[in-house]
Amino acid sequence: MAHNVPVILNEIFFSLQGESSRQGLPCVLVRLTGCNLRCGYCDTPYAYQEGHEARIGEIVEEVGKYGCRLVEITGGEPMAQPGTVVLARRLLSLGFTVMVETNGSFDISTLPDEAVKIVDIKTPGSGAGKSFLWDNLKHLGKKDEIKFVITSRADFDWAARHVKKHGLTDILTVNISPAAGMVAEQDAAKWILESGLPLRLNLQLHRILWGGKRAV
Ligand code: SF4
Repeated sequence: MAHNVPVILNEIFFSLQGESSRQGLPCVLVRLTGCNLRCGYCDTPYAYQEGHEARIGEIVEEVGKYGCRLVEITGGEPMAQPGTVVLARRLLSLGFTVMVETNGSFDISTLPDEAVKIVDIKTPGSGAGKSFLWDNLKHLGKKDEIKFVITSRADFDWAARHVKKHGLTDILTVNISPAAGMVAEQDAAKWILESGLPLRLNLQLHRILWGGKRAV
């Protein structure tokens, strides 16, 4: 039975969505354990190993307790676990709006169409610049979003080149997230305006509100 599929769960918590155009909305975050990458700016290294086995049914029940219809499955890297697809389907069938935040290095074609995919394209400055599966672009639509976390002007230029090459802003929302302590937010804003591209500046809300600590 699908609801008995196990996943390794790091934590479930209620906070404000922070990494997309839904930023600022109350959201239940389901963080799964494990990641195949090691980005230099990673702010969730505790999710690489820490966690416990949980059944899909248990997670869905816990999510339901918050009375919030927006859920984000994140990590770590959620697509590293096959149970993520089952969890997303189950939550969607119960009427939740489901976002899946992924680092882009796994095939996302298995995710249900209705899931909102927030997909990183890792820049060279992340240390994982060649990890993105470019075929994943075929599985993204208008409601989905791309995110480039930039660590320098060179990363921004790299991102802008790829945005133009693939016509990304014609397809979906493209977020530019300045990595904390590496790129001044004002600089990122200036570069976006100078580029002439309709990019969205995505500030790290949890850092602004809670100094990098997880909220509430
Ligand atoms: S993909 Fe995400 S969780 Fe994994 S190392 Fe990079 S920032 Fe951390």
